[in-house]
Amino acid sequence: MLKHLFLSILLVNLFSGFAQRDYALSIVDSLCSPRYHGRGYVNEGDLKAAGFLVDEMKRLGVEAFPEQSYTQDYALSVNTFPHPISVALGGDTLEPGADYLVSPISGTAQGEFEVIELNSRSYFNTFNGNINFSKLDPSQTVFAFNFLDTLDKRFRQKMESLSYEVTRYFPSIYVTNEKQMYSVGRKQTNYPRISIDSAAYKTVDKAYISVTNKYIPSYYSRNVIGYIPGNKKKKYVVFTAHYDHLGRMGADTYFPGANDNASGVAMLLALAKYFKENPPKYSLVFCFFSGEEAGLLGSKYFVEHPYFQLKRVKMVINVDIMGGAGDGITVVNATKHKKQFDKMLKINDDWKLLPEIKKRGASANSDHHFFSEMGVPAFFIYSMGSVKNYHDIYDTAENTPLTNFDEVHDLLRRFVHKL
Ligand SMILES: [Zn+2]
Repeated sequence: MLKHLFLSILLVNLFSGFAQRDYALSIVDSLCSPRYHGRGYVNEGDLKAAGFLVDEMKRLGVEAFPEQSYTQDYALSVNTFPHPISVALGGDTLEPGADYLVSPISGTAQGEFEVIELNSRSYFNTFNGNINFSKLDPSQTVFAFNFLDTLDKRFRQKMESLSYEVTRYFPSIYVTNEKQMYSVGRKQTNYPRISIDSAAYKTVDKAYISVTNKYIPSYYSRNVIGYIPGNKKKKYVVFTAHYDHLGRMGADTYFPGANDNASGVAMLLALAKYFKENPPKYSLVFCFFSGEEAGLLGSKYFVEHPYFQLKRVKMVINVDIMGGAGDGITVVNATKHKKQFDKMLKINDDWKLLPEIKKRGASANSDHHFFSEMGVPAFFIYSMGSVKNYHDIYDTAENTPLTNFDEVHDLLRRFVHKL
């Protein structure tokens, strides 16, 4: 009896094309492991992840685009933190990522610093002649901006930008009670800026700071591109997902980027796996872009150096943040491409896949953007649900359940057949 039950479950899985989620979970797990260093520009994390993607496509039997290799290289400028970082207030060492973030455009500072705290009480005294700035030594002085006691929002914002501007002359600390998000820096300032969570901050006389940046004016990153020929060979549906993330902030802290966007990469690979076994009508191109977090750089480069005429593209489907679709998905550019969006809605209704498909207008917030700019019809799809970790150390494989992954997969493969 049990044996029969097992067999029938196995058969249902085989023939419905389901159970993509298990495969996707293993991909997310791999991409988020420390050996890819958060898929940024420290220790060649991006290039190592690119190697993983090429190997995986070869294993699935996905080809390189005719007369091209699997990879497309381009250069970018980037600021990185490959060396150990440390911040301590009055002898208490803070935890990087959890207690504080280093601004991605930070410069270098090392040693013990005298803290000059600026708050709504001390601010006016400080800037009304009580401090002779020219006498202060930037190797011994850090300004700590602590304006949480101020209700005036605009004044607080002004202080926030001042905490950046100051780093031309001094290191700075900025105290915040808002959610902190890391990003990729493309330039460097003279000194570091450290934003500290208010729960970890205390007023002290001395701070220890060790932050060393490495600015790389010309770093070579790469897009990874795969191809499955269809019956209509010279017409394309292009799937895109960025595989890069924020990399490392120091030797001990990295940003795994499971939801953003190992999950989208897993979706593309799972779709490639399906279409390899079920030949499509149009040729499919799978673009795994890097440089997205640095400003959509990989997709911009590809659109400027495409492997085929862009006018031959039926549709671009960009997926970014596929970590959990418990509440469904949102489609950017839905209002722009109503006909295609209605097709998607109909499939969802007919097959009862997702609880909701939300429509949205145009937005320059992911890799579909430069395709859209060139007049190529493009959707950007992201999941809606319980996964809220974003650009922080908590965006891990364990926190990324890939809820309704099979349903989204099902929706997309049916959608491609209907285009
Ligand atoms: Zn993303």
